[in-house]
Amino acid sequence: MSDSEGYTGQRETMVREQIERRGIYDPGVLAAMRAVPRHAFVPTDQRDWAYSDGALRIEMGQTISQPYIVALMTELMRLKGGETVLEVGTGSGYQAAVLAQIAGQVYSIERLTALAEQAQQVLDSLAIKNVEIHVGDGTLGLTEHAPFQAIMVTAAAPKVPKPLLEQLDEGGRLVIPVGSKYNQILEVWQRQGAKYTHEMASAVVFVPLLGDEGWNEKDWKKSRFW
Ligand code: SAM
Repeated sequence: MSDSEGYTGQRETMVREQIERRGIYDPGVLAAMRAVPRHAFVPTDQRDWAYSDGALRIEMGQTISQPYIVALMTELMRLKGGETVLEVGTGSGYQAAVLAQIAGQVYSIERLTALAEQAQQVLDSLAIKNVEIHVGDGTLGLTEHAPFQAIMVTAAAPKVPKPLLEQLDEGGRLVIPVGSKYNQILEVWQRQGAKYTHEMASAVVFVPLLGDEGWNEKDWKKSRFW
């Protein structure tokens, strides 16, 4: 698999037509979306759609998010470069690779071991060295590497997990989809001393965040609208 198979052109079209056109303007985010080969993170039978305008199925019943949502969530973190960040929900590893283009160090946590191992292999093959993948319940954060200047959750939470708020650095931002099975809102939280502000960014649809401070599978299946 090489970038010369037409993927560079497809990626450029993806950035121009799906991302810039929808109003993402942060040059660091656009450069990151241009740099990371999304096709390397999708199953081989999905590669023809790697640069299409939607989420795709990956292994273990999970998904890799729509490129625009990856760019939007990255922009909402307002990274300047060099930060220590946490991603909850490694999945394919694509979002972590995008964050790694801007941040200094990315910690990413995934509850499914097989996905974590596969993501690690892809990151290694691309020589992306500033991502460290952990297996565990990301709703509890990653205390040993806190505080984080930014945290991104890439699965739908029933509420904002308290440990993640507590592990934000002063001024740090948390980007997280909150809601039920059929509708979630992307929320952005920011720490200011002992207080937090928050705003709503966009309607989204994600797979569930399962864990101690997330959904349990039974309640997720029963959940419907607000
Ligand atoms: N960011 C991923 C990417 O770039 O491919 C997509 C993430 S996928 C939409 C959501 C992921 O969150 C799944 O891989 C799922 O197993 C994981 N997940 C769900 N609950 C979790 C938890 N409590 N801790 C860590 N990962 C979790």
